[in-house]
Amino acid sequence: MTTIKLNIIFHICRAEKILPFPITSILERKHKITPIFIDEGLLCNHQFQFLISKDLKIQRSQNIDQDEIN
Ligand SMILES: [Zn+2]
Repeated sequence: MTTIKLNIIFHICRAEKILPFPITSILERKHKITPIFIDEGLLCNHQFQFLISKDLKIQRSQNIDQDEIN
């Protein structure tokens, strides 16, 4: 399985880590934008997802906790 390493930054707490992702799950989708779920503990203690485009550019990340942190 081919993976790509992406430098993930969660915009709310500024946690940053390079994580591997399977590249086929991004490129084989019909949609131009793929949401990728980051579970709690993988990057920090937040759960969130980010959107990645087919040219493997991270579009944005969004908190999926029930409470928004401002
Ligand atoms: Zn966090």
